[in-house]
Parts: sequence; C-alpha cells; structure tokens
Amino acid sequence: MNDASNSTQSKRIAVVGGGITGLSAAFHLLELADQQKQPIEVTLFESQPEAGGWIGTIDQKDYLIDTGADMFITNKPAAIELCKRLGLEDQLISTNQKYRGALILKDGQPVPVPLGFELMTPSRIGPMLKTPLLSLRGKLRMGLEYFIKCRESAAGLDQDDESLAHFVTRRFGEEALTRLIQPLVAGIYTSDPEKLSLRATLPRFLDMERDHRSLIKAIRKQKRAAKSDDATGARYGLFAAFRGGMQTLIQTLADRVSERGSLLYDQRVTKVNPAADSGYEVSSESGGVPQTQHFDAVILTTAAPSAAKITATFAPELAGLLAQIEYASTAILVNIFNLSDIRHPLNAFGLVIPAAEQRKIFAVAFASRKFPGRAPEGQVQLRTFVGGAMQPELLAHSDAELTSIVRDELKDILGVTGEPLFSKLLRHNQSMPQYHLGHLQLVEQIEQRAAKYPALELAGNAYRGVGIPDCIHSAEQAAERLFASLNS
Ligand SMILES: Cc1cc2nc3c(=O)[nH]c(=O)nc-3n(C[C@H](O)[C@H](O)[C@H](O)COP(=O)(O)OP(=O)(O)OC[C@H]3O[C@@H](n4cnc5c(N)ncnc54)[C@H](O)[C@@H]3O)c2cc1C
Repeated sequence: MNDASNSTQSKRIAVVGGGITGLSAAFHLLELADQQKQPIEVTLFESQPEAGGWIGTIDQKDYLIDTGADMFITNKPAAIELCKRLGLEDQLISTNQKYRGALILKDGQPVPVPLGFELMTPSRIGPMLKTPLLSLRGKLRMGLEYFIKCRESAAGLDQDDESLAHFVTRRFGEEALTRLIQPLVAGIYTSDPEKLSLRATLPRFLDMERDHRSLIKAIRKQKRAAKSDDATGARYGLFAAFRGGMQTLIQTLADRVSERGSLLYDQRVTKVNPAADSGYEVSSESGGVPQTQHFDAVILTTAAPSAAKITATFAPELAGLLAQIEYASTAILVNIFNLSDIRHPLNAFGLVIPAAEQRKIFAVAFASRKFPGRAPEGQVQLRTFVGGAMQPELLAHSDAELTSIVRDELKDILGVTGEPLFSKLLRHNQSMPQYHLGHLQLVEQIEQRAAKYPALELAGNAYRGVGIPDCIHSAEQAAERLFASLNS
C-alpha cells in the first residue's frame, strides 16, 4: 500500500467499554483524526444500556446523587484539560471551603484531622501536638520521622516495592498507621494497607523520602514554596466536581462520540481474534444475537477480568496476567436526612473510620457539605461506604440488612435519628482494582505481552491509576499510540 492510500483510507477502530476510559479514548481518537486529517471510523461497544461504567448521576427533583465517583483531583491535568476541550469549564465547581477537612473516628467519636495533615504527612506541629487522635507516645514517634534516615535501598526505590503499612510503620510508627493513615488511604483505595503497593498508588511519598530523606522536611519545604506562589491563586481547589453531577462529563463525551462515530449500547464483546490478513475480528452479542465485525485496531478499556475473557482465545498468556489483578467490592448507602435529625454538626467533608475501631462502615461522605446543590436547605446527603477489601463479608447481607446495619452505625456515631427522606443502596461489585505489592511489575509484563499484538491497546483503571484523571490519561495515551501505529 502506498503512502497516499495509507493516509486517506478510513481506518475502523473498536473501543471496548463505555466507562470514562472508553469514552475518552474514543473522543481522543476523533480529535486526533481531525488534527491529522486522517479519516477514521470509531465504534464503541458498551455491554450496559448506558455509558459511564462506575460513574453516574441520579438527578431527582430535589437531590443530585452521584452513584460512584463524585469528584476528581485537579493536580493531575488530564481531566481539567479534557473539560476545557469539551467546553465544560463553566460546569465545574470547587469544594465548599466552609466545611473543608475530614473527621476520623477515635473511640467512637469523630475527631477532626489535625490542620496541615495531608494523607500521610504533618506540615504543622501545633495541631499535631493537640490532636486527641494519637497518644503522646504516638505523637513523639511521628515526630521522630524528621530524624529517621532513608531506607537502605532508597537510592533504588524505583525498583523496590513496599506496602503502605510497611512504609508508614517504618517512618511514622504503628499508631500513625492504624489511627490516621490507614483510614484516610482506605477512603480512597478501599484496600488492605499490608498489601497495597506504595509505588503503584502514592509514589510521591517514596520520591519525597528519596529526595529529602524526611517526609516532614519535604512537605514543609513544599508548603513554603507554595506560599510564595500564592499570589497567582489556584484556579480550582484540589478537587473539582460538576454542578450537574459527574454524568455531565459522561453525557457530553457520549454525545460527542455518537455525533461522529457509533456508540453501541447493550453490546457485550465476547472475544477479539486477529483477522487472517490484518486487524481484528470483534465478536459481540446483544440480546442473545451474536455478530462479528472486522476492525483495523482495538482499544480494550474494560476491567481486567473482562479484558482477560475477551483475549483468552488468541492471547492466553496476556489473559492469564490480566486475570491476576484482584478487585474489591463496595456498597454505598445514599441517604438524605433532615439536618435537625442529626446530633453531629457535620462540619467537614466526611468521616473515615479506622479498621481498629471495628465498625461496620468505613467512610461517610457528607456530599452536600462538599458541593452545593446535592440536597435542599435544611437537609443533608450522606454517602456511607461499606465493605471494601477489609470487610468483604459484609456485602453478603441483603439490601435490607445492609441498610439497617448502616442506619444503626450512623445513629451510634453521628446521632442520626429520624427516617431518611430518600434512601438508595448502590452496590459496586468488583469495582476497585487492588494495586497489590508487585502491581507495577505485573502491569509491565501485561504491557510487554500486549505489545506483541499490533494495533491492540489496553487502557483503564486496572493499570496505572484508578482516579478519573488517571483513566483519561491512560485512554489518551492508548489512542495516541494506536494512531501512531496505524500511520506508521
Ligand atoms: C464507588 C466508587 C467511587 C469512586 N470515587 C471516585 C472519585 O470520587 N474520584 C475519582 O477520581 N475516582 C473515583 N473512583 C474511581 C473511578 O470512578 C474509576 O476508576 C473509573 O470510573 C473507572 O473507569 P473505566 O472506564 O476505566 O472503567 P469502568 O467504569 O469499569 O468502565 C468499563 C466499562 O466497560 C463495560 N464493559 C465491561 N465488559 C464489557 C464487554 N465485554 N463488552 C462491552 N463493554 C464491557 C462496562 O459495562 C463499563 O461501562 C471511584 C470508584 C468507585 C467504584
């Protein structure tokens, strides 16, 4: 084929999965086609009747409820940049500064996270000394971090992996792990800290140790630098959401993809096989009716177990590696209550609960304290999280039992009495990939295997980040690699 025909012939690309990753990949392919004046046909296969995957919004008359993710971090640029390109900037909202901060349960009582404490590192001494979250001994041990030297192999930390629990105990002590850091990190990853790979989830803390020896030292340095930068003022806070809920992003992407390509709902991809000449045969089924279509290239964005099934026939080694990524499940009970029915002032964005407290819920997000428009005046929206990697057995309860368990816990911890004005239990089965020790090595093996198949890309939350900006970044990189390979 000569160069001229190569550049003008329309390539057919299949994107499998219509979550944020698949939608972003399809949209970016269309952007690249425009930029490079290369005609393409994009077909997105989604097994469900609607797009979004773990992202969705219930927009009831008075309540706006995000069913999964409800915000995204802004210091990773991919999501903000995508919003700009989609013309959604004016739909973005920041967190309400009035209620900034989180609570941690200590002996059954919600206690504010000390001012200046960020996920793992204290930047201010005063609030740390005063907090009742730690014993005097625990505080002294935390303070010692300033003097503790790097791990022996710190220079080679890029290769080494270390669990969150091991790292935190080594640097800050056992109490800081169990009382502060475990619950805060579980609120993000729903994971077991003994198994969670720090390199795969929060590498910046390993980098801080390598570059500055002490995390306390590093964070204080960063704070001073940020203060001198303050004059410019950050455009968004650390987290952003959409005025109309996360569905805004999903719907806009879905509309843009269907304007120029095909978005097929209720189409479950069952397998992908290399075609005899080049490209792939993509088999799917809808309502029991199978079909197979030829594509020049494929991007798989489903969860890893589903990607493993799809690739099992032609790439069994790749499928075997994909199947090794474990997932955790969680359930969220969304309730709207009258504020007058709650004893606690709910003066924070939410509450996280250490495993050491032995409760049956692990986090409560005060959704309407974080963002406006989530509940009417005088009411509050609470999103209570159950299960995760630490308490999967709780999810075996029926919906009614789980609802009752959560209501009892809310009554006991926050003094929630009275009936909810709205209640919905959302189950997110096998929703959170667990980045266990060795995850990055596993992902490298997966990428090496996948590279053997031309014009086949993997993207999504299973690999190099679970947050929305990570998923978008992974989608855009996959689209760019694919585009480059199709044109080479
Ligand atoms: C409860 C919860 C709360 C979260 N909160 C936040 C948050 O606040 N902020 C944040 O940044 N991140 C959050 N996350 C993480 C983030 O939402 C997810 O990592 C992200 O949405 C995953 O998107 P994805 O497209 O990679 O995967 P998915 O959302 O899993 O999408 C995959 C899609 O593929 C489809 N599919 C599967 N198999 C097939 C098949 N065979 N054929 C066709 N289609 C198929 C599925 O139906 C699905 O639509 C949260 C996650 C959960 C579960």
